[in-house]
Amino acid sequence: MKTIIEPFRIKSVEPIRFTTREERQQILTDAGYNPFLIHADDVLIDLLTDSGTSAMSSKQWAGIMEGDESYAGSKSFYRFEAAVRNITGHKYIIPTHQGRAAEKILFAITGGEGKYIPNNTHFDTTRANIEYSGAVAVDMLNEIGKHPEIRADFKGNMDVEALKKFIADQGAENIPLVMITVTNNSGGGQPVSMQNIRDVKSVCRQHNIPLFLDACRFAENAYFIKLREPGYQNKSMLEIAQEMFSYADGATMSAKKDALVNIGGFLSLNDDNLAMNSRNLLIVTEGFPTYGGLAGRDLEAVAQGLEEVLDEHYLQYRIRTAEYLGEKILAAGVPIIEPTGGHAVYIDAKRFLPNIPGKFYPGQAIVNELYLEGGIRGVEIGSVMFGKYDKKTGELISPSMELVRLALPRRVYTQSHVDYVAEVIIEVFKNRDALKGYKITYEAPMLRHFTATFEPLS
Ligand SMILES: *Cc1c(COP(=O)(O)O)cnc(C)c1O
Repeated sequence: MKTIIEPFRIKSVEPIRFTTREERQQILTDAGYNPFLIHADDVLIDLLTDSGTSAMSSKQWAGIMEGDESYAGSKSFYRFEAAVRNITGHKYIIPTHQGRAAEKILFAITGGEGKYIPNNTHFDTTRANIEYSGAVAVDMLNEIGKHPEIRADFKGNMDVEALKKFIADQGAENIPLVMITVTNNSGGGQPVSMQNIRDVKSVCRQHNIPLFLDACRFAENAYFIKLREPGYQNKSMLEIAQEMFSYADGATMSAKKDALVNIGGFLSLNDDNLAMNSRNLLIVTEGFPTYGGLAGRDLEAVAQGLEEVLDEHYLQYRIRTAEYLGEKILAAGVPIIEPTGGHAVYIDAKRFLPNIPGKFYPGQAIVNELYLEGGIRGVEIGSVMFGKYDKKTGELISPSMELVRLALPRRVYTQSHVDYVAEVIIEVFKNRDALKGYKITYEAPMLRHFTATFEPLS
């Protein structure tokens, strides 16, 4: 088989800035050893997130110029609505400024005290919006998805038996909706099978509970289904995506992921009443229903992006990028979550630095060394991000996994960039015995990973 190439050529470039190791040492010290506090200009390859970091196409930029900025009834809205409806089949398409705004509206209406919202794994903004409403967010990931060292095709699947039991225990009347996140972002970008979506829907149908998709990476999920699930090899990406949404009564979407734009999102719904209430809340919090927190030009770019993201050559290149980076570093012995998911490669910091315990933040040590060694920015997903203090002893309670996420922006970096990233990771891995843990010198009471400062242990 020939090399899978980037299915685009480059028309406009943005220089990236090289720095010396000495400069990076100073930059990192000034940033309190927290890469979130580094200026993006001082980063060579930025793998902090795949959210809102996509490169837009020439057609999307043309759409930006075409944008109709009419307050009401803009033609850009109708193009957007048609593009979203073509994929979701949903009756009501409500634009929002990003994914969490759609979540906020949905759960302000359906959530509240005494309610439960199951999901394969809630993304953190989804969980936060549910909890803010007073409801309880419940994760029901299939057992296999909890084992980073086990390779399986659909590690994002929901545990259907757990869902059945949960509905029996809590009562369907206390479960306003069930959600499935495709792909499972918090679980490493692992896909959900069509069979699993179908099975969850059938349980929901028996109890009259609507099913919603958290659809941020629906196209990446659709491509995994085509690759791995029997019966889908000859279907188009659009057909697979349409089938996924056909089981859902609604969806929330961050267009900053699989709509290939820098800002945007939507809520799609079938229920008349829920749609009416959502639109009323939208008018208070986002804007008029035909722009909802976005400019007309943004709606054009989303509509165009949703077409481009379902191009099979694009998705082949996209999924291959994470797999390629994963293969390269795995071959050098670097421990990662296997198989790689759609949008990122996750280094297993526990196995990478077995001698640094969670309380000395092994993931942070790797993140900082990747920056020092090669100007690469990743993010720690472990004791810094999710560590909690024991209320009695004050001891840090670490989460079950210590990870470093290297998220891949869409259509931004080339294969040689990825080769370089692999070389830097392998170099850091070779010198891992010299790495030291960290201690925290400042932390905010909530979401401390964004602003905490650190000091290396001597
Ligand atoms: C990014 C994301 C969201 C939230 O979207 P924003 O556009 O960042 O508000 C929700 N769910 C998942 C799975 C995501 O990846």
